[in-house]
Amino acid sequence: MLISVIFDVPMAAPEQISQVFDNHGRPINYVRLAVTDRCNLRCFYCMPAEGINYVPKKELLSYEEMERLLSVLASLGVTKLRITGGEPFVRQNLIEFLQRVSLIQGLEQIHITTNGVLTMPFIPALKKIGISSLNLSIDTLDRERFKQITRRDEVQRVEATMYKIIESGIPLKINAVVIEGKNEEDITALAELTRDLPIGVRFIEEMPFNGKGANYPKLKWNYQRILSRLTEHFGPMTRLEDKPHATSTNYRINGFKGSVGVIPAFSRTFCGSCNRIRITSQGLLKTCLYDHGVLDIKHLLRNGASDPELKESFLRAFRNRAKDGFEAESKRSTQVAESMSEIGG
Ligand code: SAM
Ligand code: SF4
Repeated sequence: MLISVIFDVPMAAPEQISQVFDNHGRPINYVRLAVTDRCNLRCFYCMPAEGINYVPKKELLSYEEMERLLSVLASLGVTKLRITGGEPFVRQNLIEFLQRVSLIQGLEQIHITTNGVLTMPFIPALKKIGISSLNLSIDTLDRERFKQITRRDEVQRVEATMYKIIESGIPLKINAVVIEGKNEEDITALAELTRDLPIGVRFIEEMPFNGKGANYPKLKWNYQRILSRLTEHFGPMTRLEDKPHATSTNYRINGFKGSVGVIPAFSRTFCGSCNRIRITSQGLLKTCLYDHGVLDIKHLLRNGASDPELKESFLRAFRNRAKDGFEAESKRSTQVAESMSEIGG
């Protein structure tokens, strides 16, 4: 069943924007776009030390192709975009691309997820473009542990970027993957940042998207254990209201300025309200993080598909969405083993 609701947007020259729902009645209004598979860090849970086999540049979507896809998606009711990667800021001319994307009618919010190593010089431009928020991935602020996790010695630059973003007034969230034996002590250390800083710190369950595959019979640090660690240390926390379609549940530690949250990315408790799709750096559409790519959009683009044909292909894919990440994973012909840097998280 595809429900397409048409409503008028109250603007000077009214445009009709359709809102599309999937076969489970969930609206699709959020796209995550990986603008590159390249990265300047080597986080061990994301890729092997030697990196992944980067695809030749011509296999990555061009900015023109991405812009066109975003316009088509906006015309289908997608209002929110997250730019991710790989590391978005290793791709040349990202700011110019963002400037153009910010003009696409219907796209109301642009967010970016970055590791923060190269981001600092671009903060004023991001502010000017009106970026809605930045997510910084920081698993630890301890230099040695940062080196162990990312295999690079960059924590100082990342920490400086964090403070610069706060100073700029662009809303900031910190994302930390919690990994047994690597950064458990950073759960409370990172949460401590929210005492005085107006930021959200969210702890993500590790997933097997590491470029080589993994099998977790039971995840050591699931969201419940992370929450227990927080309450053991800080005492009872106040549950904050969930934003619609949120993947995180958020709390305020009593007396603290910011918030802390957990993202059950492996436990997949939020699929029932999932409103997001993903476009990988190579131009595959994923209607679930755990699927293996359900549509080769780059192939369509490069074989002359018209906008109406692209729309129809998107709609067909939305009509066949898995009900949750477990179903999507069970339909794959191969085990989850790709690197998150191809997908964007
Ligand atoms: N390079 C940017 C960054 O690190 O913020 C953007 C891309 S990165 C793939 C997006 C997010 O995915 C990051 O927050 C990262 O921590 C998360 N991530 C990567 N591999 C993961 C894994 N195996 N399990 C859980 N989260 C992962
Ligand atoms: Fe790079 Fe982000 Fe993957 Fe780390 S998580 S290796 S920063 S893409």
